[in-house]
Amino acid sequence: MDDLKAAKKLGLKERYALMTRGLGWDTSYQPMDKVFPYDKFEGIKIHDWSKWEDPFRMTMDAYWKYQAEKERKLYAIIDAFAQNNGHLTLTDARYINTLKLFITGISPLEYMAHRGFAHVGRQLRGVGPRVACLMQSLDEIRHVQTQVHSMSNYNKYYNGFHAFTHMIERVWYLSVPRSFFDDAITAGPFEFMIAIGFSFEYVLTNLLFVPFISGAAYNGDMGAMTFGFSAQSDEARHMTLGLECIKFMLEQDPDNLPIVQRWIDKWTWRGTRVLTLVGMMMDYMLPKRVMSWKEAWEIYFEQNGGALFNDLARYGIKVPDCIGQATVDKEHISHQAWATFYQYGAAADFHTWMPKPDEMDWLSQKYPNTFDKYYRPRFEYWAEQHKQGKRFYNNTLPMLCQVCQIPMLFTEPSDPTQICYRESDYKGEKYHTCSDGCKSIFDHEPEKYVQAWLPVHQIYQGNCFPADADPSKPGFEPLPEVLKYYHLNNGRDNLDYEGSEDQKNFTAWRDLATKN
Ligand code: FE
Ligand code: ZN
Repeated sequence: MDDLKAAKKLGLKERYALMTRGLGWDTSYQPMDKVFPYDKFEGIKIHDWSKWEDPFRMTMDAYWKYQAEKERKLYAIIDAFAQNNGHLTLTDARYINTLKLFITGISPLEYMAHRGFAHVGRQLRGVGPRVACLMQSLDEIRHVQTQVHSMSNYNKYYNGFHAFTHMIERVWYLSVPRSFFDDAITAGPFEFMIAIGFSFEYVLTNLLFVPFISGAAYNGDMGAMTFGFSAQSDEARHMTLGLECIKFMLEQDPDNLPIVQRWIDKWTWRGTRVLTLVGMMMDYMLPKRVMSWKEAWEIYFEQNGGALFNDLARYGIKVPDCIGQATVDKEHISHQAWATFYQYGAAADFHTWMPKPDEMDWLSQKYPNTFDKYYRPRFEYWAEQHKQGKRFYNNTLPMLCQVCQIPMLFTEPSDPTQICYRESDYKGEKYHTCSDGCKSIFDHEPEKYVQAWLPVHQIYQGNCFPADADPSKPGFEPLPEVLKYYHLNNGRDNLDYEGSEDQKNFTAWRDLATKN
């Protein structure tokens, strides 16, 4: 009793020290290097772990209290949205296709982040970062759960939500986000902190959870809006952890600078490439748009990211070279990606369409330098072909970048009419990458990237058919077999939005809900 009374009198700072730093100790039966075998091999030199600053000074009990409060609010809104058939007040059911891409391509990464931070928290020998990693690990499992719960309502009514954990390991375009995380989680603990704490949080989720989620709200999706903003409220902590880790490495030893710079260059580019999917969601998949991809990039990356790099400049960190290309690319990537998905709409787990004339006009206005010149003619041609009953599907599989795994759809920064590809030789084999950024990542660690599981190669090697498929049978059709292997329902989950079951049901249910 006396002890408890005494404990209550502790100030926040002392209480924090006791409940975090006070819980750590140096091992004596076994050497510390054996207990923490992973935090030195990357070459990062740490002399004094106690110098780690904890920006939030949060203890576990306070953490549970805050998070429980967030969860109560979040689930109240998700339940109300589901019970009131909130999906019928969406602008247009095309919107739901962004959620299919979200649940299959992004939510599994949240789960990987949960595992990654649990692992890294165990491997760093400093107590400060371990506590921060523990909290982030819990945040990330909360994020995946809230996303699954909120989207489970759509799964009751619409196609394409049923097999996301199966798909992330198999479907061609999902290998893009997945390979990002595979790359991070197979790196050492410090690189992981930059990959996820910096690139995933600063570069990626900032653009996903702020402008894209505003778009979700704008299109009437209260469920996605709530999980998005609830996750974003954890992001402040995550971004600070990433940044603190960078500063800590740079302050501990001057030898760390070139290693950290290389990781920042690499992961800024990896994050930028994955964002292509988000750009496409914003410009083409949101029926009502808040802002263009280009505008979002300028506000959330160029301005906010610029401030971050100014802050890091005093440690000797330079702005990554790849930013030059990203600045050119912001006018192109969303159009190039949507053009690719439209051509391969038969093999996607969501529906595709060509923008309507007024949507094309919006794109012309938002992209005055590129849309009319390079993309509108192609899109109008495809729309016209479709009208004549000749919907264009591409039947050959594209070459993929060995690093980001995106099909070779990007163009030369100096010439938007030329596909950009780079070649590297390694042990007598040729490897292809989509850009100088990806090539430099490959060339630095070829032994890592030659192992990439590239979906197109795997399909051609016959590794993406169900067990009972027999490619030697006369009349064997590979595409339907690949879709079976993906657990994708051919004719329901894929193809055009126009005429899909989703479209028909949404229209019929909305009529029931709004008319006599
Ligand atoms: Fe998250
Ligand atoms: Zn690439």
